[in-house]
Amino acid sequence: MEILVNSHTHIGDAFIDIGDKNWKLDELVAPPHGFKHEMMRKASEGEIIEGMKKAISVMERCGTTHFIDFREGGVEGIKILKKAMGGSRLNAIILGRPLELRYDSEEVNGILRISDGIGVSSISDWDYEELKKVADHVNKKKKIFAIHASEAFREDIDAVLDLKPSFLIHMSSASRDDIEIVADENIPLVVCPRSNAFFGIRPDIESMLECGVSLLLGTDNAMISPPDIVEEMKFLMENFDVSREQVGEMVTANPRKCLNVSLGIQQSDGSKNMP
Ligand SMILES: [Zn+2]
Repeated sequence: MEILVNSHTHIGDAFIDIGDKNWKLDELVAPPHGFKHEMMRKASEGEIIEGMKKAISVMERCGTTHFIDFREGGVEGIKILKKAMGGSRLNAIILGRPLELRYDSEEVNGILRISDGIGVSSISDWDYEELKKVADHVNKKKKIFAIHASEAFREDIDAVLDLKPSFLIHMSSASRDDIEIVADENIPLVVCPRSNAFFGIRPDIESMLECGVSLLLGTDNAMISPPDIVEEMKFLMENFDVSREQVGEMVTANPRKCLNVSLGIQQSDGSKNMP
């Protein structure tokens, strides 16, 4: 079966109107007090679901078969996404996250029971030791642990990789050395060039490819760009020195390999592997 994978979304923020303000990354999306998180706390479940359903229909219309969503809001947040998915043929790979920036083993168990793993914001938002406990727990359960890294500023790549992530998001402010380390360690990386551009950041996708990083493509926050992976592919081809073939791999072969071969993950509905 042909697949078309959007490897990074946050469709839970699709209902948020960010207006035309010139947002800085942290004031818009950083937990716990970024605008997005304040809005999500205030929103009713119905509002969030309505936004998600719109995002889901955007993905369906552009032919997406799978998407990997970073779902905020703990166990309840995951349940809301599952409600919004009702009736959709899309395959959601759901990465939940703890409600607060701390480790609670019961909560992590609860999240992992109904999801494919955990996806967190970044090492800079967390107390590192707490985050290490979350990562170790997820890895022990053989689920996905994914994390944003070096998005608007460079973070310590060794500390990030010590968490044994299944894959990383962004690396848009990483150094060439950091990119080489990620390539050497064989850690897949999801790039989201439209979201980076919104914040005035240009990821060095050319170096990533040159170093041999396995790249995946995602649309990131739905409140910033609708989750249309075909638009993301067009943007990538228009603004970066990448071939059509390379872009094709980022939405088919690379995510397939990342999700099947490297991880052998079980999807949250219990079915094994992608078709
Ligand atoms: Zn993200």
